[in-house]
Amino acid sequence: TGDELGRLAGEFNQMAAQIARYHEMNIEQIISEKNKGEAILASIEDGLVVFDHELRVTGINPAARRMLNLDLVEYSTLRCSDILPADSVCELIRKTVETGVQPSTPEEERIVTLPEGEYLRHYLFSVTIIRGKERSLSGIVLLLRDVTRLKEVEQLKSEFVMAASHELRTPLTSMGMSIDLLMEHGAEGLAEKDRELLHAAHEEVHRMKALVDDLLDLSKIEAGRIEMEFDNVPVQILFEHVQAAFKRELEKKQVEFTLELPEDLPNVRADANKMTWVLTNLISNALRYVSEGGHISAMARKVGEYVHLSIRDDGPGIPLEYQTRIFHKFVQVKGSEAGGTGLGLAICKEIVRAHGGTIWVESIPGRGSTFTLTVPVVP
Ligand code: ADP
Repeated sequence: TGDELGRLAGEFNQMAAQIARYHEMNIEQIISEKNKGEAILASIEDGLVVFDHELRVTGINPAARRMLNLDLVEYSTLRCSDILPADSVCELIRKTVETGVQPSTPEEERIVTLPEGEYLRHYLFSVTIIRGKERSLSGIVLLLRDVTRLKEVEQLKSEFVMAASHELRTPLTSMGMSIDLLMEHGAEGLAEKDRELLHAAHEEVHRMKALVDDLLDLSKIEAGRIEMEFDNVPVQILFEHVQAAFKRELEKKQVEFTLELPEDLPNVRADANKMTWVLTNLISNALRYVSEGGHISAMARKVGEYVHLSIRDDGPGIPLEYQTRIFHKFVQVKGSEAGGTGLGLAICKEIVRAHGGTIWVESIPGRGSTFTLTVPVVP
């Protein structure tokens, strides 16, 4: 009809048609965005798995299916432990969901090894939180990057360094011995200048031998060729060895050494010789950098399932930008290369890691440094 009711009905029809068009457009846009997202996920070479807050798999890209050997199409009923044989990764994801805090695990501890046929492949993983409205946690993305090739190169490098340093050790030892003998017996007949040359050669050969020894130790540990002999060790014993070794040097530099050990400290699971080596290295560094009349203290305390061992000094401290880097090979703080090789802390880190612990430094430049390492308590 052409009256008011009729016009109203006409307007309604027009409005309904427009809403239907708008609705279609929206759905089309959503589908196109979804397809775009899926195409991006499918083209990424890294594996991606998305979990909801109950650790159920809600998405997985083709690369991740390949890495995890999943040829199933239906994944909505799967949980983390069904697709990942690595408990530590699922545990980390579970903790992240629980706390809602992005994990800050260092890169070297984020490697997971999975079988592929008869071979093993290594993946670097990272866990990222997806936040929804009001910043609440709506899911977790697990990213897996294949680092097998990198690991192989790393291993080759380590084996080369091991072979080279092994070959260099013997000629260096005999050169060192010849120079020492010459200094003992033939130096009187030499002119002052030649004696200085001989002395310089003596210093250099010994420095080179120390470097080659450190390199050999480090590459052996890195390649897992050093056997650890774990024992049930009282912490007191570790420090007793160290204290005895430094008695004379501490007196010479008039450095005061204090040891604070709580009485009820549990025993630790450690290779006593190697742990003593680590503490010796930390105290030797502290002793090298404190000024005459300075202080060095050693402390131990139980924290959860670990004992924290700390060596504090009131030396020059370490600039912030160096505080994680000094644990890498050959890194020395500029201007403080006091005759070392830059390998000591790298070796310490490897030994501590082989014990299942970690090591770090806290330092305020000008106010000293505190190196702390963790060792597991005997279960
Ligand atoms: P090295 O002592 O042989 O040079 P390290 O790996 O033991 O090698 O130490 C790396 C660097 O860290 C040192 O060259 C030094 O610059 C810095 N460092 C280590 N310990 C201390 C310390 N207690 N105080 C100040 N700087 C330190």
